[in-house]
Amino acid sequence: MVDPRKLPEMPALMIAGPGELHEEDLEALGHQVIAHYGDVWTELHRQVIGQLGTLLGAADPPYLIPGTGTMALDAAVANVFEPGQRVVVAGTGFFGTRLREVAEAHGLAATVVPVETGAAADTSRVAEAMDRAHGLLTVQVETATGVRHPVEELAAVAHGAGAAIVVDAIASAGGERLDVDGWGIDALATGTQKGLEAPPGLGIVALGPGGRARIEARSRPPSSWYLDLMRWDHYREEWGAWHPHPVTMPTNLVLALGSSLNRLLERGIESVVATRAGLARRCRDGLRALGLEPVPRPGVEANLVVAAWADDPAALQNHLLRRGIMVSGGLEPTAGKAIRVGLMGRTATEDMVDRLLTHLAEVL
Ligand SMILES: *Cc1c(COP(=O)(O)O)cnc(C)c1O
Repeated sequence: MVDPRKLPEMPALMIAGPGELHEEDLEALGHQVIAHYGDVWTELHRQVIGQLGTLLGAADPPYLIPGTGTMALDAAVANVFEPGQRVVVAGTGFFGTRLREVAEAHGLAATVVPVETGAAADTSRVAEAMDRAHGLLTVQVETATGVRHPVEELAAVAHGAGAAIVVDAIASAGGERLDVDGWGIDALATGTQKGLEAPPGLGIVALGPGGRARIEARSRPPSSWYLDLMRWDHYREEWGAWHPHPVTMPTNLVLALGSSLNRLLERGIESVVATRAGLARRCRDGLRALGLEPVPRPGVEANLVVAAWADDPAALQNHLLRRGIMVSGGLEPTAGKAIRVGLMGRTATEDMVDRLLTHLAEVL
């Protein structure tokens, strides 16, 4: 039996999410449970969704919904589109496949545009596939390959075809440049446990003006009560002074998120992204020097997850585990062929990257 108050010693997390919490956020998380209504709570909630809007470049304060990143994706797709519509999906890898599955679960017809492993989605191939499609679904960072896809350009392609773009930014928010309103993203979904450095358990949906207009023009509400964003609007508007959401919020998770957002915004998102890009480069260069070639082609490498080809990833993972560090293996199309290092949260430091490289050098 595992005693939840006394776990055995756990490895340092350098997996592709979640990241470990910073001490100050852990302190916020450990506060006694508070009510999910009342003056202090509504002020905190307003503050956190405002900060999320600032961080994502969305003037319309995002929705903060208990659940995970995938739940936010489910909500974005269910609200922006109606059953029977057709969407194009960038076939970026494991999470591109999930986007197709989510679309199909909501009764959409999905056309997948293949993307070469290691390359960014080809905007002209996507443009060709857009013919009469209602939407384009893409990840910004495909966590399976560590590739960043050109969301700003893809948004222009979608709009050129009169379609909406929905972006999975679960592995990119807080770690990559992102501008919902400036780039014309209709809906963006993310979670709290990766670049936002908070615990898992909250999903975030940000709407741009185009996404909101589509939701308001729907012929009928989405078939989910919980994920109907207009219901969340209703509570924000009608119950705003007291209880601005339809369900009990996991207040401790929001406290921890509020704490991490304070730190990220104090440092400034531009500077946070630049630091993360530098750390990812250090990790990638170090892995390459050990003979592990990066999965992404030059220029499209993501900041929060570094993927490198390996002959025997499991052996490397096991060696690192014996040294107290946990990294991820591959996921389709890198399954069994790569290791992936997550650079998020408390362990995203030069010191930890150097330790990891030193330990890998022992076996390579
Ligand atoms: C981690 C991840 C997900 C899954 O997020 P959950 O919070 O586990 O639902 C989806 N998409 C991408 C790109 C991810 O990195």
